Amino acid sequence: MRNIVVQKFGGTSVADTDKIKNVANSVIREKKNGNDVVVVVSAMGHTTDYLMKMARDISETPSHRELDMLLSTGEGVSIALLSMAIQAQGYDAVSMNAMQIGIITENIHTKARIVDIKTDKLEKYLDEGKIIVVAGFQGVTPDGEITTLGRGGSDTSAVAVAAALNAERCDIYTDVEGVYTTDPRIVPNASKLDFVTYDEMLELANVGAKVLHPRSVETAKQFNMPIRVRSSFNLDDMGTLIKGADNMELCKPVTGVAVDMSKVRIVICDVPDEPGVAAKLFNTLADENISVDTIIQSYGRLKNNTNDIAFTIAKTDLPKAIELFDRLSDVIEKDSVHIDENIASVSIVGAGMVDRPGVAATMFDTFAKLNINIKMITTSEVKISCLVDSAVAQDALKALHKAFNLGCDIIANVKGDLPDI
Ligand code: ASP
Ligand code: MG
Repeated sequence: MRNIVVQKFGGTSVADTDKIKNVANSVIREKKNGNDVVVVVSAMGHTTDYLMKMARDISETPSHRELDMLLSTGEGVSIALLSMAIQAQGYDAVSMNAMQIGIITENIHTKARIVDIKTDKLEKYLDEGKIIVVAGFQGVTPDGEITTLGRGGSDTSAVAVAAALNAERCDIYTDVEGVYTTDPRIVPNASKLDFVTYDEMLELANVGAKVLHPRSVETAKQFNMPIRVRSSFNLDDMGTLIKGADNMELCKPVTGVAVDMSKVRIVICDVPDEPGVAAKLFNTLADENISVDTIIQSYGRLKNNTNDIAFTIAKTDLPKAIELFDRLSDVIEKDSVHIDENIASVSIVGAGMVDRPGVAATMFDTFAKLNINIKMITTSEVKISCLVDSAVAQDALKALHKAFNLGCDIIANVKGDLPDI
């Protein structure tokens, strides 16, 4: 029986040639443990940002096909260099891009989803004892067009390759030591979690804990592939294991808290309370690829047969959304659109909150004590989010972390760059 381990190294871990040599050591270490190793890498350092900037210098609206042609080159550089670094240490390695492997995606540029991964060549090289270095982030359509999976997509490439090969596990090496109870830059005594369920990680990823690309967690959940998020600077630390729920381990109601500052709230008042209105509004947004996360519709008002719809979208989509509201003038009156940009959503996440009363009450109590007004509340099975004024969001986060007893005595030692909050 073959033991396959998929390792993934992000841009910071391969930022220069010395770091690439270090990555080669980690890869060889895993190979020496007796495993077959497939390594997925991102582009070096900020390469993708730099490529993106050049495209924008040339055109404000570059074609998405050409953007994918351009952005996919970043990973082409890092796979070849890493493969050379492994070979330089006397091990057999081969680099492969998405086209060579057959990482097949939908025919959508800049945010394609993987639909299939061919394993014949991968298996062949593994049979020959080779370490395979795979380009993350990129794919190819059945027609041979190059696609990319969306920013941060190498995590998803790694998990998908691991699932396709039925690997033992997928280790995602990063510049933090694992998944924390919250952002250690805001709450210095945030503790590292040993274990997180897929559902918790999905919620954490969606509400601002940007350790992993959310789609990588969806894929892992779908194929029940364990992911270990671990530090590329501390190979002995086991990091955080993300896997399916095990009730024995769900002793705390709340696992983590997170804040998301990237959204705006839009409230549309007095829309006609009749069938088809929400469909029209959200179809129009969907047609322009604007994704909406929280939607709340209140009780209709009987007197004038109208309703209010509130929802949140990414700040970056706001200009486009405003244009669309103008086009929807038959259902939306101009002065009935209220936009609130100074909001943040603060969330508590925990698989242990299912069937445990009082969790929401503790959250609301914590806000009440700080005199924080809650503008909107949404829940899922493992999450409660409150929209609050962005100015008080960090205080809210700190207070919740304390109220749910998530801190530890040690101040987190965060190395490297964390993604922006
Ligand atoms: N290089 C790509 C990016 O910067 C993919 C990744 O790093 O995961 O978004
Ligand atoms: Mg990344």
